[in-house]
Amino acid sequence: MSVCLGAVLVLLLVTVQANWQRGAIAQPLPATVSGLSASPAELLPLPYAYDALEPYIDAETMRLHHDMHHASYVTKLNEAVQKHSELQGQTVEALLSNLDALPEDVRTAIRNNGGGHLNHTMFWQIMKPDGGGEPMGAIATVINENFGGFEAFKQTFNQAGADRFGSGWVWLVRNAQGGFEIISTPNQDSPVMVGTYPIMGNDVWEHAYYLAYRNRRPEYLSSWWNVVNWEEINRRLAAAS
Ligand code: MN
Repeated sequence: MSVCLGAVLVLLLVTVQANWQRGAIAQPLPATVSGLSASPAELLPLPYAYDALEPYIDAETMRLHHDMHHASYVTKLNEAVQKHSELQGQTVEALLSNLDALPEDVRTAIRNNGGGHLNHTMFWQIMKPDGGGEPMGAIATVINENFGGFEAFKQTFNQAGADRFGSGWVWLVRNAQGGFEIISTPNQDSPVMVGTYPIMGNDVWEHAYYLAYRNRRPEYLSSWWNVVNWEEINRRLAAAS
């Protein structure tokens, strides 16, 4: 690549990132159609300030969660992918969708850290300050038609999150038949590993809530609905359809 073209690309990337941080342009679509790169994987800045989700999620939790936990998944995913040239250029989803095809020495690292990167990239985007409220648009229809209304949906979702023993996630997914399900996955396992598309998910690892909520996971799960970004969830739903 010529120096000149390289400089233009760097400038373009810096501009896009700056605009994204300001919220001036639409955020990139995550998940199966996001094309989230695994080579190299990149930690994007939070799309809002660390304290933007208070009082529901505190600034220190957000800082540790993004800058330490998510950053570590990114670093370790890059280390794993760099060991095998044939994995270069693939998306995180592509790697996770076919774990059995991965070289054995990096399979677990990619499962854990690729999943961690994909899950958290979605997580930051489906939250926002002044979020929450009633779902609107297409996601409201999905919730009403499949789960008996928003209150029943929240109850089922929160229960699945509370019932996850140890660390993991709770999800609303679109399955391969086009139906909608609430599921839970252990550790950093992604719904794409089982052929489903994550529309929205909440992180129930203790690192997501323990500083403020201590062992009261159900309280965190209930509070979390106050920061949900329904516009972004509707974008993901549209991408899944
Ligand atoms: Mn987490």
